[in-house]
Amino acid sequence: MKIDVEQVKARHSLSAVIGRRVKLRKAGHEHVGLCPFHQENTPSFRVNDTKGLFHCFGCGASGDVIDFIRAIDGLDFRGAVEFLANGDLPAADPIDRVKAERIERAERIEATKEAFRQWASARSITGTPAEIYLRSRGITGPVPWSVRFTYAPIRIDKETGKPGPRLPALIAACQDVRGKIVGVQRIFLDREGRKARMTNPKLSLGQTRGCALRLGDVARRIVLCEGPEDGLTLRQRHPDASVWVSLGTGGLAHVELPPEVEEVILAGDNNAPGRAAIEAAELAYTEQGRKVRHVFPDPRFEDWNDELQQKVKCR
Ligand SMILES: [Zn+2]
Repeated sequence: MKIDVEQVKARHSLSAVIGRRVKLRKAGHEHVGLCPFHQENTPSFRVNDTKGLFHCFGCGASGDVIDFIRAIDGLDFRGAVEFLANGDLPAADPIDRVKAERIERAERIEATKEAFRQWASARSITGTPAEIYLRSRGITGPVPWSVRFTYAPIRIDKETGKPGPRLPALIAACQDVRGKIVGVQRIFLDREGRKARMTNPKLSLGQTRGCALRLGDVARRIVLCEGPEDGLTLRQRHPDASVWVSLGTGGLAHVELPPEVEEVILAGDNNAPGRAAIEAAELAYTEQGRKVRHVFPDPRFEDWNDELQQKVKCR
């Protein structure tokens, strides 16, 4: 018998399937519980019915309903699909799904608006912790308008809309293909211009996929790299080049480029994910009919900013 995998997936509400094995409680539009894949006392296991995905922020376990059944019951793919197709399991309510999608869309729009508010509140980095931070990374001289400083809330309560405490942050504008600012990336700092002590001080808000931080104008040839520090380093080294930043390894191959851009120089990181990202990006932009080549920092250095600072890789 042939089983339609997508249909099997769509038919089940993930939280209901997982809820039979893990005690879940509702938190916003997601469910949370104690992760069944590692020992923990505070719940870091989240289930999102709209996306049909679970994720554990403790051990990194993640996937869809089939991955969950496979992992928890030790089944292979086919076994898990059959279990879902034949089992007496709670079915997803299509109305709930539509409702959840509507909520998610509203949240996305709100996030984009908040990104723009934070951007609008930002000012020049001169005399701010952002300037100290960049100087400490060897980036001197003026930065383009797309890199600024603000005090931003780390998070905003989804239920109440109330912002959390504000921290100093370098804020970078994320522009879509038409040049519209649709998202931001913040690097949270302390008052002395060091990266804030949190698990991930680099947080984006609003839309970043398909977009780029532009450190130079639209040009026939652009240099494209992953992170703002590397981008500012490359711009300092090649003042005539227009350097753009994908704001993340995963986005390097997906920046939607204006038609004026004929040539892309991919500036990679010297590590396995960096090289894989360059390979994917090379393929993507070549397929779009653009001229593509890649460059890497000297092999002794992990990335362009390390090279600038002569910070040799540890082995
Ligand atoms: Zn876990």
